[in-house]
Amino acid sequence: MSAFSLAGKTALVTGANTGIGQAIAVAMGQAGAHVICAGRRSCEGTAELIGGSAEVLQLDFADPMAASDIFADRAIDILVNNAGIIRREDAAEFSETDWDDVIDVNLKALFFTSQAFARAAMAREAGAKIVNIASLLSFQGGVRVPSYVASKHGVAGLTRALCNEWAAHGINVNAIAPGYIATNNTEALRNDPDRNQAILERIPAGRWGNPSDIADTAVYLAAPASDYVNGAVLNVDGGWLAR
Ligand code: NAP
Repeated sequence: MSAFSLAGKTALVTGANTGIGQAIAVAMGQAGAHVICAGRRSCEGTAELIGGSAEVLQLDFADPMAASDIFADRAIDILVNNAGIIRREDAAEFSETDWDDVIDVNLKALFFTSQAFARAAMAREAGAKIVNIASLLSFQGGVRVPSYVASKHGVAGLTRALCNEWAAHGINVNAIAPGYIATNNTEALRNDPDRNQAILERIPAGRWGNPSDIADTAVYLAAPASDYVNGAVLNVDGGWLAR
């Protein structure tokens, strides 16, 4: 079997109704996985795109502990922590709500979902894969997005911290740092002609990324091909961070 096949595996993708999460769910389905498409809104559309082996799960990280009980009674091999939000405001005006909401979804939910997933994998003595979705703002400071930057720096740190504890249990913990990808998350930037041009001029590849650019990397990090990749934060950014 190909080292890039996910045949026989079950993958759970958070925020699978749209954007990067939807593309990851579809790519993992195409690679042979049974995919649990999880979201706070219906993921039926994603399950239909996958076709064969898919199901949907209601999961709203308004409660960051929402996934605490979902791994105990079934074998899930791959967890993709993709759900994320962003709030834009001057740091001097930034509200506690915009801080807490972003940290809860992007960081607290990611940690406690990973904890529940890893506990179940360790109890089964089964290998497993965690793929976190980080950001360029895991490395850079950004402008007017302080809670997002703090959360994504946290995602990169947790990727390494959890790798250090769980690699010995056969659980690979890695992250993808997407560059500028055309999704709802970046619609405001693409609609601003000046920001759009400035972004494009800095990307060596000369284009926005597509969700599928991230999805194919996620398949790699979920597949046997990456079994000796631990604690990596892989930039998929058209070369942005190389500039
Ligand atoms: P998106 O289209 O806005 O997708 C975000 C996903 O997270 C949606 O499915 C959204 O559900 C879900 N979500 C938000 N709040 C949630 C909650 N409380 N509970 C459960 N799910 C929730 O944006 P995207 O670009 O695909 O973002 C996916 C991930 O990539 C995020 O972690 C983001 O930070 C990261 N990222 C994106 C870029 C980029 O350029 N696009 C770059 C770096 C990192 P709803 O549809 O219901 O809101």
